Amino acid sequence: MSWNNIKSNSCDGDCDWEETRDEVDELLNDPDFSFAWDFLSQLDDWIEKHKHVTESQKQAIQNIIDGAANRGQNGDGYELD
Ligand SMILES: [Zn+2]
Repeated sequence: MSWNNIKSNSCDGDCDWEETRDEVDELLNDPDFSFAWDFLSQLDDWIEKHKHVTESQKQAIQNIIDGAANRGQNGDGYELD
């Protein structure tokens, strides 16, 4: 069996991978995030396969969300912190 390799990076499930996968699924269905579709699709597959998500992957998702917020605004009422 090869599951040892797959689980080598796992964490007993406290990474909230299911919640993150649901979030990625939502982004995949949102046209605003089509620019990141390839990345999100691969990430979705990875999370589903490993039943795990890393902090850096969560950060990458957040960066995409932040990037989309910037793309979606044309300076009309949008304020930077
Ligand atoms: Zn995990």
